[in-house]
Amino acid sequence: MKRKTIIAGNWKMYKTVSQGLAFVEELRRAMDNIGSDVDVVVCPPFISLYPLAQALQGAAIKVGAQNMHWEEEGAFTGEVAPGMLKEAGCTYVIIGHSERRQFFHETDEKVNKKVKAALKSGLIPIMCVGELLEEREAGTTEKVIRTQTQVGLSGLTAEEAASLVIAYEPVWAIGTGKTASNEDAQEVVAFIRTLLADLFGTEVADKVPLLYGGSVKPENAKGLLERPDVDGALVGGASLEVGSFMGIIDN
Ligand code: PEP
Repeated sequence: MKRKTIIAGNWKMYKTVSQGLAFVEELRRAMDNIGSDVDVVVCPPFISLYPLAQALQGAAIKVGAQNMHWEEEGAFTGEVAPGMLKEAGCTYVIIGHSERRQFFHETDEKVNKKVKAALKSGLIPIMCVGELLEEREAGTTEKVIRTQTQVGLSGLTAEEAASLVIAYEPVWAIGTGKTASNEDAQEVVAFIRTLLADLFGTEVADKVPLLYGGSVKPENAKGLLERPDVDGALVGGASLEVGSFMGIIDN
């Protein structure tokens, strides 16, 4: 089954609006020869979503948010609602990134509410799962991934699940320069696909793009992306420079 390749850049709390606009202009020029079977996504801070989406109208680059609230509106100071992201021009939204889990108390239950709310608003959630170093060393990787996946996707219909994207991001590989080996990445990603098959059936499991994230760079992207179940990459540090992001896209 041929699934779409997705290369998504998570800018975290980097780049002002003007820096983001300059970046996407340069990326757009550099991407002239990229085929339409690759979805290239940039996920800037909230404040840049609307101007970047406007600047990218008609371009092959899509815009995603890094987080959202699950309510449609309300007295939640500092939060942004799914419908607001959709109207601002977002296609994707990252949900449950390990930095949100670690620094902002995001639990699997909150991730689940956000995944459901994103789908309801027509956004494609990129749900992140991944184990800590202690968990990998203790041999509990599959247990952790199973819980994060089952709780994160609890209550979804098969039809809803078919529009998801999941990113496997081992926490020990994020921003550390340490990457999972191609085999380890494939093993966990294939495990996620079996979980999806158990929950929603093989037809859905075969459709869902599964990304790897954690110190992806131009030098290691090819090996990772060649694995049969790895359909793309969620890229942090290397998505901040056009040269390195393009190096990954080219692979
Ligand atoms: C990320 O933030 O999702 C990420 C994978 O970061 P990095 O590529 O810098 O490890």
